[in-house]
Amino acid sequence: MSDASHFLPFTKPTVDEETIVSVVEVLRSGWLASGPKVQALEAQLSEYFGGRPVRTFNSGTCTMEIALRVAGIGAGDEVITTPNSWVATANVIIETGATPVFVDIDAKTHNIDLDKVEAAITPRTKAIIPVHMCGLPCDMDKLYAIADKHNLRVVEDAAQAIGSTWKGKRIGAFGDFVSFSFQVNKNIMTGEGGCLVLNNPEEARLAEKYRLQGVTRSGLDGIDVDVLGGKYNMTDIAAAIGLGQMKHLAEFNTKRAELARHYFSSFGTDFEQKTGAELPVADFENSNWHMFHLVLPESVNRATFMQQMLDQQIGLGYHYRAIHLFSMYRARGFTDGMFPIAERVGKQIVTLPLFPAMSIEDVERVVSAVKSCLL
Ligand SMILES: *Cc1c(COP(=O)(O)O)cnc(C)c1O
Repeated sequence: MSDASHFLPFTKPTVDEETIVSVVEVLRSGWLASGPKVQALEAQLSEYFGGRPVRTFNSGTCTMEIALRVAGIGAGDEVITTPNSWVATANVIIETGATPVFVDIDAKTHNIDLDKVEAAITPRTKAIIPVHMCGLPCDMDKLYAIADKHNLRVVEDAAQAIGSTWKGKRIGAFGDFVSFSFQVNKNIMTGEGGCLVLNNPEEARLAEKYRLQGVTRSGLDGIDVDVLGGKYNMTDIAAAIGLGQMKHLAEFNTKRAELARHYFSSFGTDFEQKTGAELPVADFENSNWHMFHLVLPESVNRATFMQQMLDQQIGLGYHYRAIHLFSMYRARGFTDGMFPIAERVGKQIVTLPLFPAMSIEDVERVVSAVKSCLL
């Protein structure tokens, strides 16, 4: 069904009737806070990630902050990350009192350039937060070899990578801390939410404390607070959405890959050479195709291009502007030119529409609109 008059957003969640009914049931049940639905979702996620402990939270931001706290990271420590991500990835480092250290990205994968990480390690480096951008995993062998060699904790920002794999193994089913987001744009969502995969029950118990004011309970009226926690728990309303989404995860990701394949075939093999634009890495083995990016040639003004696409009823996103160039980061000493690849990508990248409810005709409509602007 191709209707060139209807507006095509860059993403849109798919929610089935069964999920809507289950949310209404939660509302009628009277148990709206963290309860049986949260427990059921955590159990399902744990199974999905090979039996590792999983805890849910109210965002994919606090999951990372809590992972850093569980790892004991704070003032005086340095944490290496990428400037090409949503600002949450670096903000959580500052929230713990630690210092973010950026390493530029690889021009093709847009993930942190692991060949440049070792040069950024100092005696204060305690952890690394890599991002699996668009669901394309970092080189996990290289990443964990560096972490092992330098005794660093890893908090994988897998916000975009649910269902992605590395050498046949699911992202989250191995490694150190792995953090996922269920924000509305992600491959599965809970309205707002996230989950953290941890290594053992002790870490999971500590994460539970950080999730809820540092509280431990014993017996009917026993309570103690021995660490500083926050208010980060997921509601049963959100968990009911998550349980409904989990049923469709495999099918959503298959559909995304199918649409991505169609993007490549519609653009054609000479598109990059003809336009100077860059298509993403065509990884149909590991990626969950969270987003489909196009890096515009330097000669094209992104805002103008976005407006031209909008005039054709196509909404684009841009993910992401380089983090270190935001005012708060500039105030911490970061400047233009420090991470040139992330800066170029951050200025020229656009996100094309890609979501499970899209049709092949929608893809063709986007591609012909892009070509009309660039050729
Ligand atoms: C979505 C996202 C986050 C933040 O997740 P929230 O659930 O919105 O807090 C962090 N990092 C990346 C790479 C993301 O895509």
